[in-house]
Amino acid sequence: MLHYPDLPTANLTWLHVSENGFACLGEAFATPSDPTPLPAAHWVGCNDALRIQLGLPQDLWQQQETIELFTGNRLTADNPTYASVYSGHQFGQWAGQLGDGRALNLGAIQTPAGLQELQLKGAGPTPYSRRGDGRAVLRSSIREFLASEAMHGLGIPTTRALCVTGSPAHVRREEVETAAVVTRVAPSFVRFGHFEHFSSNGQIDELRALADHVVTAHFPLLQDKQGTERYVALLHEVTKRTADLMAHWQAVGFCHGVMNTDNMSVLGLSLDYGPFQYLDGFDANHICNHSDHQGRYSYSRQPQIAYWNLFCLGQALMPLIDEQAPALAALESYKQTFPAAMDQGMRNKLGLSGAHEGDRALVEDLLQVMQQDRVDYTLFWRRLSVAVRESAHSTHAFAPVRDLFMHRERFDTWCARYLERLGANNRQATGDDMLRTNPKYILRNHLGELAIRQAKAGNFAMVQDLLQVLHAPFDEHPTYEAWAGLAPEWASSIEISCSS
Ligand code: AMP
Ligand code: MG
Repeated sequence: MLHYPDLPTANLTWLHVSENGFACLGEAFATPSDPTPLPAAHWVGCNDALRIQLGLPQDLWQQQETIELFTGNRLTADNPTYASVYSGHQFGQWAGQLGDGRALNLGAIQTPAGLQELQLKGAGPTPYSRRGDGRAVLRSSIREFLASEAMHGLGIPTTRALCVTGSPAHVRREEVETAAVVTRVAPSFVRFGHFEHFSSNGQIDELRALADHVVTAHFPLLQDKQGTERYVALLHEVTKRTADLMAHWQAVGFCHGVMNTDNMSVLGLSLDYGPFQYLDGFDANHICNHSDHQGRYSYSRQPQIAYWNLFCLGQALMPLIDEQAPALAALESYKQTFPAAMDQGMRNKLGLSGAHEGDRALVEDLLQVMQQDRVDYTLFWRRLSVAVRESAHSTHAFAPVRDLFMHRERFDTWCARYLERLGANNRQATGDDMLRTNPKYILRNHLGELAIRQAKAGNFAMVQDLLQVLHAPFDEHPTYEAWAGLAPEWASSIEISCSS
């Protein structure tokens, strides 16, 4: 067992933990738990853009004590760390109590971006670690760091990642790896599973306190509603946010991989990046998690799974709502909000204005042709955007898009329909809009893998460079042109499991 290094008194004046964070709910929610130090901690990745957004000091990355704080090697005397308890459904089965098994919360701080909770992932065991070691390996920490920030760059709601620190300490997974800690940032880390926990234990006062906290701290527009009406409105709001999130994921080709209810954010944020993947070649049935043998969390099932998860949340809220009908109505709003958000998202990708009856069929037919040829999802949209812009003054503009297909006649048939729908006006401006909708850069598995290989050898430059590019994925980055290309052959052999 390591002991805390004897460092000079902390000068962490920026860490003013707010009274209004999750911890104010008390010990039924936040269990005091200390981090376990790691030796020889060092920076792996620093997110300076987020530091600025949070209004943190300019010399943050230069301070040794920041490394120690964000590794869990030092506590700030007045800010004890805590783990929260939650339960959940995993792969469709009730799993009972889970909780922050390897996440420790530093508390909420006031920032120019509002109240933000800070959380260390991988800082050692907690009372909820069960048989786990409370650690995270360097590989999965880099993936989470980059994925959160890639999502943010794409404009998709997500928890953020401020930094990653590493340590030579060994962590046993399929093989021996080294430890790392990610500092995650979000207005709240409250999960569907938090509600399921108190509800299933019959702790109705706690359930109500949690719901009231979420409403007061995060959904102030619902604050005036009282009693049943407030909790129905809460369910409605979470349903809407989840529907929006699913539309974003589907449109950008993101597979989460482990959509258990304990990984679902009540704020509608992308949360807990494990075996995730952004699609390379389009395959609606793609399963990114090699432990998901049934394909429960395949790409095309995600919106349906989210709906199932919302029912678990609805069920958990029932003791506060009493009547079934309003809860069901709130949940059923998903059947309108998700398709509407999805249709709009795909129209944006296609550069179509207004809503026409045949739009959904146009999208579905396109996806079928793409599926048949496993056309690279990101490259297709980017090339289509360029083609639309170029078509303002070129008759061959669509050739680079066509080249992505093996069944070119099928693409030609689709493209003719598309061009008819698109119309001839404003191709330049439409193409420009599409280039701001369809990213050039996404966090392909092989890019993460290359950054991880270099980091394992002690070189963190690619982590930092990828972060910069992924923060601006719609822009051109000529130095990193290669990162916008097709995944290499070896990428298909990367296996991503839950082990992290
Ligand atoms: P996940 O599938 O990563 O969302 O994790 C499911 C549950 O297992 C959560 O309660 C996690 O905190 C816990 N968990 C995952 N990995 C570990 C670990 N290495 N040590 C302790 N708990 C863990
Ligand atoms: Mg999780």
